[in-house]
Amino acid sequence: QRVGYALVGLGHLTLEELLPAFGQCKKSKPVALVSGSPEKLKKVAQQYDIKPESCYSYADYDKLKDNPEVKVIYIVLPNSMHAEYTIRGAKAGKHILCEKPMANSAKECEQMIDACKKANVKLMIAYRIQYEPYNREVRQMIRDNKYGKVKYIQAQNSQSSANPDHWRHKKALAGGGALPDIGLYCLNTARFLLGTEPTEVFGYSYSTPGNPLFKEIEEVMSWQMRFPDGIIVDNITHYNTHDSRFYRVNAERGWIHLNNAYAYKGQQLQTSHAEGPAKMENHITLSSKNQFAAEMDHFSECVLANKDPHTPGEEGLQDQRIMEAIYQSAREGRPVKLAPVQGTDVFR
Ligand code: NAD
Repeated sequence: QRVGYALVGLGHLTLEELLPAFGQCKKSKPVALVSGSPEKLKKVAQQYDIKPESCYSYADYDKLKDNPEVKVIYIVLPNSMHAEYTIRGAKAGKHILCEKPMANSAKECEQMIDACKKANVKLMIAYRIQYEPYNREVRQMIRDNKYGKVKYIQAQNSQSSANPDHWRHKKALAGGGALPDIGLYCLNTARFLLGTEPTEVFGYSYSTPGNPLFKEIEEVMSWQMRFPDGIIVDNITHYNTHDSRFYRVNAERGWIHLNNAYAYKGQQLQTSHAEGPAKMENHITLSSKNQFAAEMDHFSECVLANKDPHTPGEEGLQDQRIMEAIYQSAREGRPVKLAPVQGTDVFR
């Protein structure tokens, strides 16, 4: 039995990753599309065998309500549109899978959670890394205390972009720059790996004066997060360097390094540890699995078995609160304390 998905927004992620990934799903299938371009709708619908009557414009979005084949709406739109389309989708009685970042403010995240609760539908945020085998393996190694207690993590997620007219460079649409787009992976994955919540953050941001790419958004954010037991997580995200996506978990008797940690594929896991007097290094190879397929099938399982997803709306809300604290810290030039959170670990 496969759960039917409506994909909203036919941009890069939908066309290049999500629609192809359905080919590797066991419990999910695309059954409807929503786009502003009739030509794109026609072409993509033919390619993926979607009925012409299941193709909708944004103006017709609420008509998804009357399509019984659609059980889940997957929102793959610019960040500022996530809240509105989640709330309208929930009102149409459909379960919602929403891309990251969940929204542009904690207030919007709360409204999305409320709307889904009221409509009695599930809400999941598409944190694909939490469904990716290498990152899950690292989390297990940490939980097993394989190299003793973790003391600090260094993480970075950086890339370059060239089009100042793209929505990612408009604050009103993107909510921010490198931090909510790609820095979020460092933040969310650290919480996932450690299974605890940060208590304090300290941020530092910069945008090169006169560069049109960074007129409205930050070019770089560097930030530290303080976790319980004195664990420090040191992060940097940059929108103006060659691709670099890794983290290193430093523990008492060894380290775990995941290269391409946040990439769609190509993760490389390496460890170094003290076994007696000798130091050993090895590379660990796991069977690869499409992260997007794993993520969608997880949500479908939750829909079919009426279970809560691992990455519910509360997970996106917590990240949004932390990002707001990082921006505040960067603005004010001082560390910002975070309010304690109850129970998020139950979702992992
Ligand atoms: P994109 O620009 O390629 O696609 C966005 C789509 O939204 C386009 O089809 C565009 O036509 C449509 N759209 C509708 N109204 C719009 C408006 N007012 N302005 C601009 N576009 C509008 O973007 P994308 O890379 O596909 O990103 C979409 C979402 O997916 C974002 O929230 C992004 O953060 C997220 N994303 C997640 C991952 C991941 O690995 N999970 C990767 C890329 C993007």
